[in-house]
Amino acid sequence: MSEEKKNHSKVIVIGSGPAGLTAAIYAARAEFEPIVFEGMEPGGQLTITTEVENYPGFDKGIQGPELMDTMRRQAEKFGAKTMFKEVVEVDLKAQPKVLKTDDGEVYTADAVIVATGASARFLGIESEAEYKGHGVSACATCDGFFYKGLKVIVVGGGDSAMEEANYLTKFASEVTIVHRRDEFRASKIMVERAKKNPKIKFKLNKVIKEILGEEKMGAKMVTGAILEDTKTGETEKVDVDGIFIAIGHDPNTKIFKGQLELDDKGYIITEKGSTKTNIEGVFAAGDVADSVYQQAVTAAGTGCMAALDAQNWLLENGYDD
Ligand code: NAP
Repeated sequence: MSEEKKNHSKVIVIGSGPAGLTAAIYAARAEFEPIVFEGMEPGGQLTITTEVENYPGFDKGIQGPELMDTMRRQAEKFGAKTMFKEVVEVDLKAQPKVLKTDDGEVYTADAVIVATGASARFLGIESEAEYKGHGVSACATCDGFFYKGLKVIVVGGGDSAMEEANYLTKFASEVTIVHRRDEFRASKIMVERAKKNPKIKFKLNKVIKEILGEEKMGAKMVTGAILEDTKTGETEKVDVDGIFIAIGHDPNTKIFKGQLELDDKGYIITEKGSTKTNIEGVFAAGDVADSVYQQAVTAAGTGCMAALDAQNWLLENGYDD
């Protein structure tokens, strides 16, 4: 058996968030024995969140990592093979499709389900890069613990910013939400919860112009920021120990550029009412193809659709033996 044949699967799922694992559950139950490449962040974004309150079926809420562990076990129970590998190169126009992983292995598949999700966006200013991991973070649940009794900023006006700010009040003495407008993209309930929290302050119509820091215990650490008013252009200096960026996400589609059709924000374009992409036998599910809803439950829903679309495509094209 050639190496290529040995690594062949009818269905390969790229990504292991709610979309990828739901696709794997369905593809496995259809006896396609899918391989799931878990990628850089196994379990996806829910593994760096805490309580998930809006996933149906859990009236008391469920911890994000627990929900993802359960989904993975469910997929494996039906025969999905999960692998801690990252796909670094693809040739999706070839048939079978060819995927290269970060350990240099090559895999082939008749059908591919892309569920690579989205990753946290950063501001892109120079000082932010300098202090990443030294006071600048995009994950409150990962790093919040280090800010016990300290002051932090959360940048953003969406649900993520509100959620991270609330979470950070468990540790920080003061959390300031810095938002570039005076209206919020976040849902009313999340904004109200943040407003009611006595530890949370708001600085609206402000952007971070520069992040300031100094040498502390042998490493450069954040000590403050210069904020600029988006209406007047005035600047002010604030003293803080940490800056959490919560300004949304960018789709993980770098490896598909030039093959899959993407929109102007880089999200995969799928056929209306289906998960079909511009390439036969390639389907996309979850946040990587959704710039609008971006919910765990919608990702799971499109993951299911992708597996059913892949199943139909395999049957119609004679790959079901
Ligand atoms: P989002 O809704 O896109 O909000 C991003 C926020 O960051 C916006 O307020 C935006 O400002 C701001 N922003 C973007 N780029 C910026 C920049 N360069 N500088 C300064 N500010 C910038 O993203 P999200 O909050 O991550 O939420 C994504 C999706 O996940 C949403 O559908 C949300 O409902 C969902 N979510 C739900 C929950 C929950 O229900 N528990 C929790 C988290 C996320 P503008 O408003 O001015 O554009």
